[in-house]
Amino acid sequence: MIEASTILKENGFRIEQEYEDRLESLLQSCRNNLKTVDEELIKKAFRLSYWAHRNDRRASGELYIGHPMEVAKIYVEQIGFDDVGVAAALLHDVVEDTDISLEFIRETFGDSLASVIDGLTKISSAFESRDTSKAENVRKLLLSMASDIRVIFIKFADRVHNMRTLGSLPPHKQIKIASETLTLFAPLAHRFGFFAIKSELEDLCLEYIHPEEFKEITSGLRDSKKEREAYIRQFIEPLKLRLKSEGFAFEMYGRSKNLFSIYRKMKRQDKPLKEIYDIFAIRIVLEGEGTKGKEDCWRVYSIITDLYKPLTERFRDFVSVPKSNGYQSLHTTVLGPSSQRVEVQIRTTEMHAIAEKGVAAHWKYKEHVQSDDKEMDRLLNWVRELLENPESEKASDFVRDFSLNLYDEEIYIFSPKGDLHSLPRGACPVDFAYLVHTEIGFHCIGAKVNGKMVPLSYQLKSGDQVEIITSKKQSPNPDWVKFVVTQKARSRIRHWINEKTRKATELGKEVLDKRKAKLGMEISEADLSRIATKMRFPNTQQMFFELGSGLFDVNDLLKAARGVLKEDEGERDNSDSLRIQYESFLNSAQSSGSPGLLIGGELHTNLATDYATCCNPIPGDSVFGFTSKTGAIKVHRVSCPNAPSLILNMADRIIQVEWSRQKDIHFVSALRVMGEDRVGILNDITQVISKTLKTNIRSITISSDDGVFEGNVVLFVNDLEHLRRLIDRIKKIDGIHGVYRYEEKGDETGAR
Ligand code: MN
Repeated sequence: MIEASTILKENGFRIEQEYEDRLESLLQSCRNNLKTVDEELIKKAFRLSYWAHRNDRRASGELYIGHPMEVAKIYVEQIGFDDVGVAAALLHDVVEDTDISLEFIRETFGDSLASVIDGLTKISSAFESRDTSKAENVRKLLLSMASDIRVIFIKFADRVHNMRTLGSLPPHKQIKIASETLTLFAPLAHRFGFFAIKSELEDLCLEYIHPEEFKEITSGLRDSKKEREAYIRQFIEPLKLRLKSEGFAFEMYGRSKNLFSIYRKMKRQDKPLKEIYDIFAIRIVLEGEGTKGKEDCWRVYSIITDLYKPLTERFRDFVSVPKSNGYQSLHTTVLGPSSQRVEVQIRTTEMHAIAEKGVAAHWKYKEHVQSDDKEMDRLLNWVRELLENPESEKASDFVRDFSLNLYDEEIYIFSPKGDLHSLPRGACPVDFAYLVHTEIGFHCIGAKVNGKMVPLSYQLKSGDQVEIITSKKQSPNPDWVKFVVTQKARSRIRHWINEKTRKATELGKEVLDKRKAKLGMEISEADLSRIATKMRFPNTQQMFFELGSGLFDVNDLLKAARGVLKEDEGERDNSDSLRIQYESFLNSAQSSGSPGLLIGGELHTNLATDYATCCNPIPGDSVFGFTSKTGAIKVHRVSCPNAPSLILNMADRIIQVEWSRQKDIHFVSALRVMGEDRVGILNDITQVISKTLKTNIRSITISSDDGVFEGNVVLFVNDLEHLRRLIDRIKKIDGIHGVYRYEEKGDETGAR
């Protein structure tokens, strides 16, 4: 049994001088940062913690007591709530890791401190188990907070120190703790307005999760430091003089943004560090509070804009409308010397304290805070709301909401084993599968997210635990290209499709060659392309591909081949086959050079747009745009025979286009008309088209063979509706069996 009196009495046991000194420095911090300090309470807590942990060491090798002492220091300096919290921070691991019981704490320090320790002990076990979902962790964290806010404050301080000393742990633990910090603690710290804690946590996470980028940014900042500081001086000096002459008391300095936010900017803008312009901001902290302080912010803003031209679109007024976490400041971006953009933040000392310390700063400025502080009430209400719906759905929405807001360029995903992977926003299980291993990507047939089956196109969210289900029989689906976002997944799938296409095309050729040899047939290259056209393939490649994929029978190809070869003979004989060409048959309207196309929702008439002649799109058709290397946009129908290969192989050049309602533009379209070869049928057709429906014809090609009439009519139409009307009317002509829309040429893709 522990003799309380022995432990708590001075000289009851020996404390190393180093720790006595550190205790004194902690007490000094308390005097500086807290309104009232019960020094005896803190000393007592320290002595008990020292004794309880006397045989424990940290992974770094130092005496364990160093950890709770640092946590207490972070608590008092960065959160600065109260002395009971400092004592609790000193004792935060005692019940969990040593023989000291909660009862003993209660007897020695009272209910209030004991309940904080109790809360801390409970939540720390929540993080031990691997299979507890993230959402559940958040809920436990918040539950503990609802009992006493100091629990979460100490937890923040604990996490800061654990992250600072993360280097002593083995790598797999580093990643686990860092990812948990990034998805849970940093966003939560942000929500509380603990800006300094949030920034420090994020930067430490960056070091462990993205070590390469971390090195790049830190060394880049170091290299450009002198230059940056010189620039900041140049910017600040004239401003300082002006503000002083106007009688302001203030502090002004330039500070680099935190590493993680620079990292985010680089990712978002896809630029190297050198090209990120706003890596630092100028901060002006004015002495003053309340309404007078607010007015001063505005006056200073107006002085700045006298000296430097403001970019009005980048102005933010968080003074009149504070952020939800209480943050207040005026943000403006101005053009500094050599036209560099510089962000300036203007705030009062009071606003500054809130920005750095969040809600805790209120205690510094207000008298009766704990009972009636509005900010505190608001936060606790927010927590209560969350807890009223304690099912994990809601908590996971909540995690997602704040994770997404903060880390919208990147999401963090866990494997079933708990390994962390980062993916770009919008990533789906297929991206994840390829990230893990190409083979897993190739064979994935399904995915479970947080234990539930989801479609492969499902958008993953930070904190999701993803399990990929594979099957040896599965192979990539070309549709995947439409929803994957990572380069790796996309290029692997495309490569696979190209390989498959190449093999099938080879096979198609082989199949035909074998049959040709057997039959003693000869088919030239030119004949092949005519056969392809006859069979309505865009080109011979596609024909061989479909043949090799087993989409049609080689006998169909041979049948078409015989037809083509026979046609040749017929032409040579100049027999009864009739072929009439009308070029510019009637007053041919010209296709307008300024198409009524909406690109990205705006009407563009000056853009170099053109319509693909492989599918001749007309208004009303579902279309997409294909950007050529010169930047011109070619519009294709979604049903274009070339569409699949364009979309699959050059997806990055596909853009979304829509038809606008512009009238009086004519588009080329073609119809194939089939029927009986009777006298006057051509006249009837042209009558209906040009007279009844007042449509201009560009050309007509007709042929008749054995009493069967076949005609190709190329016309100028306004839109799809117009074309449909034409089709309906032509169908009603006596002797007409079929009218189909068709495309004249086959191999024009606009991909040049
Ligand atoms: Mn701890």
